[in-house]
Amino acid sequence: MDEAFRAILVSRGEDKVQRVDVVEMTAGDLMDGDVDIAVEATTVNYKDGLAITGASPVVRRWPMIPGIDLAGTVLASRNPNWQAGDRVVLNGWGVGEVHYGAYAGRARLMGDWLVPLPDAFTPVQAMAIGTAGYTAMLCVMALEKAGLSPADGPVIVTGAAGGVGSVAVALLSKLGWHVIASTGRPAEADYLKALGAAEILDRRELSEPGKPLGRERWAAGVDAVGSHTLANVLAGTRRNGAVAACGLAQGMDLPVTVAPFILRGVSLLGVDSVMADKALRLEAWRRLSVDLDPARLSALTTTIGFDEIVDAAHRIVAGGVRGRLVVEMG
Ligand code: NDP
Repeated sequence: MDEAFRAILVSRGEDKVQRVDVVEMTAGDLMDGDVDIAVEATTVNYKDGLAITGASPVVRRWPMIPGIDLAGTVLASRNPNWQAGDRVVLNGWGVGEVHYGAYAGRARLMGDWLVPLPDAFTPVQAMAIGTAGYTAMLCVMALEKAGLSPADGPVIVTGAAGGVGSVAVALLSKLGWHVIASTGRPAEADYLKALGAAEILDRRELSEPGKPLGRERWAAGVDAVGSHTLANVLAGTRRNGAVAACGLAQGMDLPVTVAPFILRGVSLLGVDSVMADKALRLEAWRRLSVDLDPARLSALTTTIGFDEIVDAAHRIVAGGVRGRLVVEMG
């Protein structure tokens, strides 16, 4: 247990300037927890990009090992629900923000945060899904809970060529929805159509200040972008439709009026993956096992190694990553 492993450590000195170093650690350096895990795969989400670049205050405890997602094998457990050899998945719970995260050979976590690795997935596939994909599933489940189905009309997915967006397109099309994929990367139209998008919309149509209400264009939405984009998605939603909001890639603001809510009965559904309760997580992972086509998951995934994480973090914040990045720890 005390063998050395590599970790990415973000730290900052009194000058508040953030540093990112690859360091060697041993298990004795890890934070408190009741399950020790060998990390086999992780991923780079937008939030991990923010943590490593320092572009937004994701890290709230210094120093920190970033990485909000991991899949691996339990090495030792002091939690009655887990034993050595169990294969597990971790998404969120403040890991990589306030508790040492996934970008290390080992993690020590609370057993209550873990879910079993679904039989349908290898650790690498589970991380190809990662928080982005599990959040896309939560968004789809939120739309279903609101009573919406493909029979109600099209669904729009914003940030479609990104991680949440790509998985949402793949899931919704498999479930029979007519998917309108909004993207700023027209060159990715063929990629999005291969994932199941029926139509491509230039994101510039949605990213500028718009009218309180517009033409009713879609019955539902999955929004990873926020700001004017989400406001315009709401303004274009059909009567009694709903939009699941999970992201802020354009901005955290929401310059909307109450018109879509009070004149068309539109619902805005908030989705938080980080603190979602265990029952919801288990259901989301069960649904991913059933509703995500493995061929499409593979089509939206790029595999990188541990040494490429920091570069990938910069690229994802700059909007330059397509689909999902999975990190094989090796
Ligand atoms: P990605 O970077 O992979 O995807 C974001 C996509 O948003 C980009 O690919 C791009 O899509 C689009 N985009 C980027 N910048 C802009 C902009 N200025 N204006 C309009 N669109 C833009 O990130 P993820 O998929 O990992 O995460 C997406 C969002 O969801 C993030 O804000 C993240 O923090 C949030 N999130 C929230 C979770 C929750 O629990 N609520 C969980 C997971 C993620 P395109 O090129 O197609 O236009």
